[in-house]
Amino acid sequence: MTNLSEPVVTMDEFHWQLGLLQHLDVGLMVLDRSHQVVLWNSFMSNHSGISDTAARGKKLETLFTNFPVDWFKRKLDSVFLLRNRAFITWEERDYLFRFKPHHPITGTAEFMYQNATLIPLSSPNGTIDHVGVIIYDMTAVAVSQQALRRANAELETLSRTDKLSGLANRGHWEDSLSREYERFRRTQTPSSLVMMDVDHFKKINDSYGHQAGDEVIRALSALLRDHARSSDLPGRYGGEEFGALLVNTSADNARVFAERVRQAVEALEVQHGPHRIRFTISLGIAQVSNEHQSHEDWMRAADEALYHSKSSGRNRTTLIEDLE
Ligand code: GH3
Ligand code: MG
Ligand code: MG
Repeated sequence: MTNLSEPVVTMDEFHWQLGLLQHLDVGLMVLDRSHQVVLWNSFMSNHSGISDTAARGKKLETLFTNFPVDWFKRKLDSVFLLRNRAFITWEERDYLFRFKPHHPITGTAEFMYQNATLIPLSSPNGTIDHVGVIIYDMTAVAVSQQALRRANAELETLSRTDKLSGLANRGHWEDSLSREYERFRRTQTPSSLVMMDVDHFKKINDSYGHQAGDEVIRALSALLRDHARSSDLPGRYGGEEFGALLVNTSADNARVFAERVRQAVEALEVQHGPHRIRFTISLGIAQVSNEHQSHEDWMRAADEALYHSKSSGRNRTTLIEDLE
């Protein structure tokens, strides 16, 4: 018994499928071996403003200015040659066609991010004469992923920064010091460490209050930032203790930096309410040396120099080398 209804069903299915393809929210097109458009669905017409009749028989580079023609041809030719699919992602290239984004939630994007799949289409005799291209709108994914990356970068900066001073916090600063110590072991290029501590800081807190003390810490931090070169790393080590890592700097040059900072602090007036607060700092310097077994040893040397500045009258700079 022959099934008379079968061809009808097939024709129906064919039309339905065509209709569905037209309304699918992805771009569909078919290109021939000379890279000319053979098929172009309504997604493509709606976003490009080019109707399917206008697109048919044209090369993509004539339809779109700045179309990456050489790059795309290489992709397309490999699909013809290898008879394998190829994929293009928005991470590799933002888009294949510059379309406006159309989802309101992704209003921050300038254009539609796209993924594309290139599929070899075999003719009934088995030859590959056409390639199907599917364009996916990836804008929502791209925008949220970029927002996530930005948030992560901000978090990372925050995790390295001391909130009160805006300088490197102890963890990040000590990590950098440790890396610099390791670099010295390999390259023997000198670097110096300056440790600083505010003189009689308790008195500032006791006389003007804790907030005044915080204001002093902020002012000193700003001053350190102003005096540091881009290769220097000032950091807050503890309450009113600071360190400055001076890369590629000898102890003598570190002394010049330290004295400049010390004198600038001496001249500084921190305004807090009706008060003008003056204060001084003591400093200790150690240049890294092969006698230090670790970055902790290096820090201990700078601390010892700082302690000497304290015990010999404060508001001064000591080089550990001068004590040895
Ligand atoms: P010295 O000249 O010997 O360094 O005297 P000092 O008073 O500075 O002595 P010390 O280092 O022992 O005291 C530091 C004080 O700093 C103790 C603590 O109450 C205060 N402090 C630590 N962190 C902060 C902070 O973030 N803000 C304020 N306002 N005070 C702090
Ligand atoms: Mg102190
Ligand atoms: Mg202290």
